[in-house]
Amino acid sequence: MAFELITVPCLSDNYAFLMHNADDGTTLLVDVPEAAPILDIISAKGWDITHVLLTHHHPDHVQGLPDILANHHPIVIGAKADAHRLPDLDQPVSDGDHIAIGSAVGDVYDVSGHTIGHIAVHFAEQDIVFTADSLMALGCGRLFEGTAEQMWSSLSKLRALPDTTTVYSGHEYTLANARFAVTVDPDNPALQDRIARIEEARASGTPTVPSNLGEEKQTNPFLRPDDPKIREHLGMPSSTDAEVFGKIRSRKDNF
Ligand code: ZN
Ligand code: FE
Repeated sequence: MAFELITVPCLSDNYAFLMHNADDGTTLLVDVPEAAPILDIISAKGWDITHVLLTHHHPDHVQGLPDILANHHPIVIGAKADAHRLPDLDQPVSDGDHIAIGSAVGDVYDVSGHTIGHIAVHFAEQDIVFTADSLMALGCGRLFEGTAEQMWSSLSKLRALPDTTTVYSGHEYTLANARFAVTVDPDNPALQDRIARIEEARASGTPTVPSNLGEEKQTNPFLRPDDPKIREHLGMPSSTDAEVFGKIRSRKDNF
């Protein structure tokens, strides 16, 4: 396997990611909450940051970029629709675009909802997707700018990816997400099983990110508004999936 993926804990609960390809020497950095922990790994590995992907405009995903640019000269990639409020982009991208990181090809998805202009990138051959604050481990991002309909349409695109996909999301919120998930999906054995593993991981300080998309489909309530038991539990048997999603999201906001 020529690819090395590293999860970099940043700030109090953010994650940045490094995807290094030993065959062509490229290193993709996904989001920049702060530069120091990223540069520590880069210098220990002797890598050069050749590409930076910015998933959305929030400060906790972009604010470390100037300190990266002081030492590296990457191609900075981000949403064209959000270029006015992102750092200067070398490669503005839109939904459906393909980006090349050396020999690796990523498919760009607009996943608006948390913000308008949030993007996710799926690398089909590597079986990974970078989702930041759209789809998260057992959760999804808060709707700061978009509507429930928009976020549900965004999550539906991600839900259509293969079960084997590894999901790299932006925060360590999983334990809090787990406490909420059981309140809307109390009789799901796969969820109970996952929560036990999450508690074990967090007790030993192990990240719960990345996660597996197949397991998200079985356990993440934000991917399951069409589940009959969740609908019954919420008293919404004949609502649309987007309406049920919106109800789950607003319950989480008030949890
Ligand atoms: Zn955010
Ligand atoms: Fe964030």
